[in-house]
Amino acid sequence: MNRVWPGNPRGLLMERVAAALWENVVLKSDYVVDLHEGGRAFMARYIHARGTEETDKIVGDEVRRLCRLFGQGIPVLGGVRTRGSMLGSLSVQAGLRGIPCIGPELGGGSRIWDEFVEIGVQGVRNVLIGLGMVQDEPVGADLEQVTVNESNWPKTERGGMMYNTCKLGEVVEEGENVGVLRDTAGDVLEEVRAPYRSVILDTRYQPTVYPGDWTFHCGKLA
Ligand SMILES: [Zn+2]
Repeated sequence: MNRVWPGNPRGLLMERVAAALWENVVLKSDYVVDLHEGGRAFMARYIHARGTEETDKIVGDEVRRLCRLFGQGIPVLGGVRTRGSMLGSLSVQAGLRGIPCIGPELGGGSRIWDEFVEIGVQGVRNVLIGLGMVQDEPVGADLEQVTVNESNWPKTERGGMMYNTCKLGEVVEEGENVGVLRDTAGDVLEEVRAPYRSVILDTRYQPTVYPGDWTFHCGKLA
């Protein structure tokens, strides 16, 4: 659904769902927190806050403010989108309408993880507190939160089983091993290395990897 915003009431199923949410929820909102997770194959832990040059001018400062309010030391993926399909994301389309939107990406693997649910609930609460909608003290506002404006997923040449050697949120050096691809007998086919000094934003949950597949999401640290 996050490629078809703002949807189409006479389109395909996902376009219809998006159109209904757009009309009845998004356009009536001052701010949007679009809670995501890593899907079947990945585990994620970061806030997606990437816009286009245009949305950055309109809502960039407010988006960065929402990320800081969400807090809890969750890394932020900022910068500007270049790929066309991303223009149909909720954050870009809402941003063009002047509605700041952030996309926390927490957990994954088609499972519900208590620890990530807790971060999401507290993050939304922190945002509400920061916006003056709830009276309370935010949690984890003092934790260091890095922002990266560039990221990369190193790819594998072959298919196989991925053994992770990095953890979500870990900082790795340029060229450091983040995963080992093995065949079904356990022999090493390839080693996956960080393209630059990075914070790990996504890891593999599902070990099965195809040639050219996404492996680990490395956010470039200055
Ligand atoms: Zn997502």
